[in-house]
Amino acid sequence: MTDPGKYFTAIKKHFGTEKLTELYHTNEFTLTVAVALPAQATDKHVNTVTPKLFAVADTPEKMLALGEAGLKEIIKSISFFNNKAKNIIRMCLVLVGHGPIKHAGGWKFPEKYHNRDELMTLPGIGQKTANVVTSILWGAPNIGVDTHVFRLAHRFGWAFDVDNTPEKVERKLLSIIPEKYLDVANHLMVMHGRYICKAQKPDCANCPVKKLCEWNK
Ligand code: SF4
Repeated sequence: MTDPGKYFTAIKKHFGTEKLTELYHTNEFTLTVAVALPAQATDKHVNTVTPKLFAVADTPEKMLALGEAGLKEIIKSISFFNNKAKNIIRMCLVLVGHGPIKHAGGWKFPEKYHNRDELMTLPGIGQKTANVVTSILWGAPNIGVDTHVFRLAHRFGWAFDVDNTPEKVERKLLSIIPEKYLDVANHLMVMHGRYICKAQKPDCANCPVKKLCEWNK
């Protein structure tokens, strides 16, 4: 198997980005909401909605002041907005229970949430969201496995038929990806899957890892 580090070096160079996500956000709370919103929706579409939302509600307190009806009105073009709005409001109710949280750099989570398991106790925060958030915010060695990451792990020859769930693929990725790439692995694989190695028509001719790729061979 080709060293996964070589893939990440090439993909990072190709996209030339230091950003860890394309999702618009302004602090730890808005990042979490932004990561939780795209299930069955694209990041691009979510980014057309969130600037308006976060302009009025960039903390749990302000989100509760906006209210479930107000939140639904703003995010109504996103799939499953009813459920997503309910969960965001329930999450905010839990977070305000910790009292007002103010930091110079904007709203931040209480320290007890700085790990995946604790973050997943919040309403609406599943494993994929918790993985992405903990890895972006605190550099945790967790990899959110969405449809792009799942597909690429198999195409790159890192996962096999038996790795047929996101959890199994995540375990496989964590066992082979060099530590220095763990915090960027999700973002780089999502970018590569979204713009180059697409599900239906992978753009192999313009792919920065075509010489490494098992599927191409
Ligand atoms: S060579 Fe083709 S299949 Fe392989 S990673 Fe690149 S785009 Fe995907």
